[in-house]
Amino acid sequence: MAYRAAFRCIAGCPGEHPVNQPYYRCARCGGLLEVAHDLDALKAQSPAAWKKLFAERFMSTRWPYGSGVWGKKEWVAPHVDDENVVSMFEGGTNLFWAERYGRKLGLRELWIKLCGNSHTGSFKDLGMTVLVSTVKQMMAEGRDISAIACASTGDTSAALSAYAAAAGIRSIVILPRGKISTAQLVQPLSNGAAVLAVDTDFDGCMRLVSEITEREGVYLANSMNSLRLEGQKTVAIEIAQQFDWDVPDWVVIPGGNLGNVSALWAGFKMMMDLGLADRAPRICVAQSSRANPLYQSYQRGFERFEAVQAEKTHASAIQIGNPVSYTKAIRALEATGGRVEQASEAELADAAARADRAGMFSCPHTGVALAALEKLVADDTIRAGDRVVVISTASGLKFPEFKTQYHERTLERVPAPAHANSPIDLPNDVGTVRDAVRRILDMPLD
Ligand SMILES: *Cc1c(COP(=O)(O)O)cnc(C)c1O
Ligand SMILES: [Zn+2]
Repeated sequence: MAYRAAFRCIAGCPGEHPVNQPYYRCARCGGLLEVAHDLDALKAQSPAAWKKLFAERFMSTRWPYGSGVWGKKEWVAPHVDDENVVSMFEGGTNLFWAERYGRKLGLRELWIKLCGNSHTGSFKDLGMTVLVSTVKQMMAEGRDISAIACASTGDTSAALSAYAAAAGIRSIVILPRGKISTAQLVQPLSNGAAVLAVDTDFDGCMRLVSEITEREGVYLANSMNSLRLEGQKTVAIEIAQQFDWDVPDWVVIPGGNLGNVSALWAGFKMMMDLGLADRAPRICVAQSSRANPLYQSYQRGFERFEAVQAEKTHASAIQIGNPVSYTKAIRALEATGGRVEQASEAELADAAARADRAGMFSCPHTGVALAALEKLVADDTIRAGDRVVVISTASGLKFPEFKTQYHERTLERVPAPAHANSPIDLPNDVGTVRDAVRRILDMPLD
């Protein structure tokens, strides 16, 4: 059976563009593209047959199908030959039952999808494997591509540089000079990316990378490239699979450029189109209150969308005022009866810390989603019996300053951290240590 995918304009312009050629926007209207699959071909297999196939492949060692993304290859990227797949066994992440944290909130079934338990520490791996594999496929077909480039300070550049290094393809990261710490860059530098630090701001870097990828045979890896969303949509399919194909009631997800929520919806939509699910969850997008254009638009009933000037937030990966994928995100929210919530700096930091007290190690973006969850429970939108999944987008281990400064009570804009925990300094004296232990044992465990 020949499966087929092509780029299509989301505004409805007629025609298609091939996915194995460098198209980032609609050639007619300049709008966003999405990947459309030949659903009739996919429908030739029954829902039960797809479920069986996905189950056989899941976490297996049969390369590349053990990957959570490539195990669903026919639904994701049928244009890539197996020998051109560049995979690091992405996906297949733990769906953590946050039993104790959920119980504190009054929820019976709270699950946290730990997408940060991945090769480069964030969900960006799910999309980057598809993008870099497509580039390898195009090169194998004789297309002249000399490098892949992005303008990103964080998780996108980490994922790009790792997958490109594994494939032996040159990667280029363009950044505003003097505004990025070495710690944020250590992954791309380690993977041998060419890091260009330019005297401009982030928007200036975006303009440069667009310019360069138009002309020099350099492929663009930023998230207007909708191939990445095809890999990211597998998170929805994987969640359903982990629940034995039962769809949760709610999914809460942090949003910046809004590609990931668009991908999440695309995954649920495709399962419904192909008969593997009979409904979609309601989706809540969680934003930082310092970078909240979607929240503001939601407050106006999505009547209009206006970019905002994003302010500095600890949730740095969603510090975005002019998100690329807002039309796709609004479509997802309208289709699922969704919600948009926001979280202040203190709310995101304290919610992350509360989940940590029940065994997590939450990154600030996950903290934004958890704070939104707490609000939806408090206003009774989410009910005690609902099955809820929170998407954790990165590992807390990638944000050591955020985690340490919270507990040292030095975190900017969070003057009174509710769950700060610092070491107790003691002399080397057994009596003093025993007294300290006794005092600890007298305190309630929270
Ligand atoms: C990229 C990223 C996000 C935001 O995803 P969008 O697709 O831009 O909405 C959230 N959290 C982390 C850790 C990220 O790297
Ligand atoms: Zn168009």
